[in-house]
Amino acid sequence: MKGTPRVCNTPHTLAWRALMAQIIDGKAVAQAVREEVRDEVAAWVAAGNEPPGLATVLVGDDPASAIYVNGKQKASAEAGIRGFDHRLPHDTEHREVSKLLDELNEDPSVSGILLQLPTPPQVDGGALTERIWPSKDVDGLTPISAGLLAKGRPGLRPATPSGVMELLRRYDVSLEGAEAVVLGRSDLVGRPVSALLLAANATVTMCHSRTRNLADVCRRADVLVAAVGIPELVLGDWVKEGAVVIDVGINRTDDGLKGDVEFAGASERARLITPVPGGVGPMTIAMLLRNTMTAAKAA
Ligand code: NAP
Repeated sequence: MKGTPRVCNTPHTLAWRALMAQIIDGKAVAQAVREEVRDEVAAWVAAGNEPPGLATVLVGDDPASAIYVNGKQKASAEAGIRGFDHRLPHDTEHREVSKLLDELNEDPSVSGILLQLPTPPQVDGGALTERIWPSKDVDGLTPISAGLLAKGRPGLRPATPSGVMELLRRYDVSLEGAEAVVLGRSDLVGRPVSALLLAANATVTMCHSRTRNLADVCRRADVLVAAVGIPELVLGDWVKEGAVVIDVGINRTDDGLKGDVEFAGASERARLITPVPGGVGPMTIAMLLRNTMTAAKAA
């Protein structure tokens, strides 16, 4: 994924110099991961094994959730993963979903289970997520998976944070001893990204809504990961010259989809930067497929 930095000239410079960051192509990396998983599945099946199976459980008819589930099932099929697509009506009782999850836990043809969140109010999505066996927790969101990650022990890791790490790996970003600053401490992104960066021997600072002098903390970062959900919170001059900027944010605004980072300003200072869309976004499904293959092999 190495490439030539884009070079531009400004009236203020007499000489050409590399001013703009290289853009991290999340679509291309995600495609590469998906092809690798497809090849791995084919080899696994050719060796006489059952194909990995991914069960998705969607309760209700939230259109955004249906789009996510459709995308996950389509990508699974393309990778040769068997899909078990469970769609339950909006008024399904908590105990019915719970029973389905128990059946999927016991089903040997299901390698991974994903309960699409949010669930309708009568269904406690958090409690149900905890019912999923850690060995089938391809979303990496159960307390056991989170605990294994926090302790640095093997386990299934949440897909979006794994996608962030894969982008850094493919672009040869050295993390050993690097100052990494993570904005956000959610269970879904901030916390697991921080744990993964720490496991890669970065020196990690985790920021949140109560962090003082956020701009100054960000300016220390060799690697800056933003997962806040506020459009363009991170301004260009918060970015250290030569930093690597990973923008996890996906914010729908009147001006279209925006990340958590002011892209134009940040890309004048960063060495590498993810765009929104086309950066971290496509990695989530790719890493979910990889987790499903990993779960099948470990079963
Ligand atoms: P979340 O659960 O709402 O967490 C946001 C975090 O940001 C919290 O820890 C919060 O701090 C912190 N925060 C809020 N305001 C802040 C401020 N002014 N300064 C510093 N920190 C602040 O969000 P999430 O689920 O982690 O998602 C974050 C973003 O990533 C969203 O835009 C989401 O859409 C996107 N996302 C993308 C993908 C993908 O690409 N596939 C996947 C998941 C999420 P407190 O803890 O103090 O409240």
